[in-house]
Order: sequence, then structure tokens, then C-alpha cells
Amino acid sequence: MTKSGNGSRLKTAAGISFLLIVIIPLGIIFIPKFGTVGVIVWLSMVVALIFIIVKHHSKSTSCKCPACGVTFRLPIMVDFLSPHTPDKKKLRCPVCGKKNWCEIAG
Ligand SMILES: [Zn+2]
Repeated sequence: MTKSGNGSRLKTAAGISFLLIVIIPLGIIFIPKFGTVGVIVWLSMVVALIFIIVKHHSKSTSCKCPACGVTFRLPIMVDFLSPHTPDKKKLRCPVCGKKNWCEIAG
């Protein structure tokens, strides 16, 4: 694990914490006060924040293919939708084409 990998993970965790600590209470305030408009505004903020977190995560994360050893970066949607554990992601390697549990290199 590299130092930058840890920093990146901390930033992602901070983003998720921010989402939970700030956005949920905002929703509790916005939705009863503004009704449907409140729901739309609140959902827009949630989607925007999730997008920012995922974009940051995919930019700062690369994965290592266990079959051929190549390290590659992930497109945003692949990063968001692929099954994963805290340190591995199930991905198709862009070089050898094999689908494996790839180690997250940070
Ligand atoms: Zn590969």
C-alpha cells in the first residue's frame, strides 16, 4: 500500500462521511419545507456529490491485473458499477481481456 493510496482512500471516506453527515440532515430539512421541489433539489445534490466522489476515486485509483500484471486506470462508470471488496475489484483487463479480481493499487 502506497502513501498516496492511503490518502486517496481517506479522501473517499471523507467524501462519503460528508455525504452522510451533511446531506441526510439537509434532506430532513429541505423535503418537509419545500415538498417536491425539496426532493428534487436534495436528490440533485446527492447525485452531484456521488458523481464527484466516484470521479475522484476513479481518477486516483488504478488496478493491477493478476493474470498479466499490468496496472490500469478505470473509467468512471466501471469504477462505480463493478463489484468490489475493500481491496479488490472484479474487472476485465484491457490488455489480456481476462476477467479477474484485480488488486486496487491506489
Ligand atoms: Zn491482464
